[in-house]
Amino acid sequence: MSDQHHDRPPLDGGQGLTEEVKQAAKDLNGADPQVILEWGSKRFGRALALACSFGYEDVALVHMMHQVDADAKIFYLDTDLLFEETYRTRDRLAEKYGIRFIRVRPAYTLDEQAKLWGDQLWKRDPNSCCMVRKVEPLRRFLKGYDAWCTGIRREQSPTRAHTQVVEWDTQFQMVKLNPLAHWKEAQIWDYIHQHQIPYNPMHDNRYPSIGCIPCTRQVQPGEDSRAGRWSGTNKTECGLHPSSTGEQGGDLT
Ligand code: SF4
Repeated sequence: MSDQHHDRPPLDGGQGLTEEVKQAAKDLNGADPQVILEWGSKRFGRALALACSFGYEDVALVHMMHQVDADAKIFYLDTDLLFEETYRTRDRLAEKYGIRFIRVRPAYTLDEQAKLWGDQLWKRDPNSCCMVRKVEPLRRFLKGYDAWCTGIRREQSPTRAHTQVVEWDTQFQMVKLNPLAHWKEAQIWDYIHQHQIPYNPMHDNRYPSIGCIPCTRQVQPGEDSRAGRWSGTNKTECGLHPSSTGEQGGDLT
């Protein structure tokens, strides 16, 4: 899909991390996130896509990426179940940076999903709902790319504790950049305020992690930052990133 594919060395065909990626992970570990994005942009050009859920990590990444490449490909998964505040955050970012966010949609509308698998699938089988509304659309979209970039961080959860800043994504068979892997929450908020980056106001109202409406709630004082996601189930992640422990790991937020 990229006009730059021809002058880049080929990836290793999915047989694991290339020596190059291993070396980059080593060299860039602890580096400024923007330096990691610069490496990714130089190495992959238009074959790199940044995933954005409009959570606070991702709005910081959008700002950084915009400094690196104002025409970078930035996409979001529109499950049709996002909060109004999330769409407004998208619009404010689009206006500030002149970005055209790529909207990635599920193959089925909510009505079609209800006809096929029953109403409110997220209540009965959230893994299947995430598969239909997030994982499959992401897989379809990423087929056109060689590398993707996420805002996941090591301190977010045990399944993310071993996240590398550059790694081989075994699920999607491509390179994955996690430029904020080593950053702390406070660093990101400092960055957001310093650069006056638009963010989702729900974060100021005890929603540290924001996903789909039916699967997101406020957290109580003292609760883990991801306690408000899939509350009342043992699900903690969407299945977008298998973790290093082999668990289904990873959401975009
Ligand atoms: S987060 Fe909830 S509503 Fe959204 S896709 Fe997953 S199960 Fe469905």
